[in-house]
Amino acid sequence: MQEKHRLQVYKFGGASVRDAEAIRNLAHIVSANAPQGHLLIVVSAMGKTTNALEEIFHLAHSGQDYDTPLAVLREYHQNVATELRQESGGQIGTDDAEASQLETLLTQLSAQLTTLTPADYDRQYDQIVSYGELLATSIVAQALGAHWLDCRPLIRTDHTWREGRLDWPTTEYNIRDEVPRLLLTGPVVTQGFLGGTASGATTTLGREGSDYTAAIFAYCLHAESVTIWKDVAGLLNADPKIFADTVRYPEISYQETIEMAYYGASVIHPKTIKPLAVQHIPLYVKSFVDPMAEGTRIGDCRHAALAPAFIRKTNQCLISFESKDLTFISEENLEVIFGALAQVRLKINLMQNSAISFSVCTDFSAYRLDKLLDRLRDQFTIHYNTELELYTIKNYDPASIQRLTTGRELLLEQRTRLTFQFVSRGGLNEFIK
Ligand code: ASP
Ligand code: MG
Repeated sequence: MQEKHRLQVYKFGGASVRDAEAIRNLAHIVSANAPQGHLLIVVSAMGKTTNALEEIFHLAHSGQDYDTPLAVLREYHQNVATELRQESGGQIGTDDAEASQLETLLTQLSAQLTTLTPADYDRQYDQIVSYGELLATSIVAQALGAHWLDCRPLIRTDHTWREGRLDWPTTEYNIRDEVPRLLLTGPVVTQGFLGGTASGATTTLGREGSDYTAAIFAYCLHAESVTIWKDVAGLLNADPKIFADTVRYPEISYQETIEMAYYGASVIHPKTIKPLAVQHIPLYVKSFVDPMAEGTRIGDCRHAALAPAFIRKTNQCLISFESKDLTFISEENLEVIFGALAQVRLKINLMQNSAISFSVCTDFSAYRLDKLLDRLRDQFTIHYNTELELYTIKNYDPASIQRLTTGRELLLEQRTRLTFQFVSRGGLNEFIK
């Protein structure tokens, strides 16, 4: 198949479409870098729209007034669309049918907000919050004069609302059946983050899931590459908002990238890498601010030792269990503890055991922690600390450990061949139950 080696997938996140100027920049990137072959463009909701929709949904669902935030959201989109239309000087996107798509979507959103019921919070969340991507793609497709593709009938998921799990065979069949012929007519713009069930309900793939969407399309269409356009220069060894003197990795393996995402680096959605790795499709991370700069290539590669990567997870909780009769922590005890953690859906980020105690570091949730204490209080003495931070240094060296640990009290630390992790205090509230 000839097209096979010519399709490229571009993904643009919220920051890269946050206003008319950003969308003009996107159009410039597309025309300057567009491949000779075909181009599929995956777009997220504009700016902070997903957060705004979450808020609107929450207000509507709990019977509160949401008129003001909804009006703000509507005007935001209308203003961007109008500004782009005026600038195009009547060249593109001025046709009434296209202009009214945005209005139709806005009207549908308003109408759907009035039909919410108390039940099925998560299902209804998906029906509402998904409008961010529908609105954004409508505006971007119009600005580019590109085909607008609704991905929901193609990306088939189960009913796991807010974290739809993919039905790969059906999705692959649908995408291959529909998309190649659309690509023959020019660039195609579609939504990140969304999917649909067999019965036609909308699902979402998990917050920040648009990267994953790009990988799904690339996998199904055997793309030549995926490029994620971000507001940073590529994949960096630390979040530049937290750490000074970050360095960019020019090239990095799929394996390393998956591990960084796993430890909590907010670089790329963790589910993105596997479909690409299976088909050896390279993933480029590039800056939409400086599109000609090199960026990072993620792919099959062997590299010499990488610069240490620093990853911070905040809002952590360290929970220690001691058996009440001071017996050793046994496999039977661990089975009970793991079972309870799974039931309350607390995910372990780090764990350690000693003779009579077992400790886990998890994301903090007051609600889930309470449920855990209820289940285990009779059997164990439980201590916990909240407001903690979990730091991971991948590919550490003595200098990088010193840099992060100096002057800190480490409540727990762990070292494997390539990874050094520790939990340290952010607040000072210790409880004993
Ligand atoms: N708009 C969605 C979110 O903010 C998906 C994404 O940005 O990837 O979570
Ligand atoms: Mg977003």
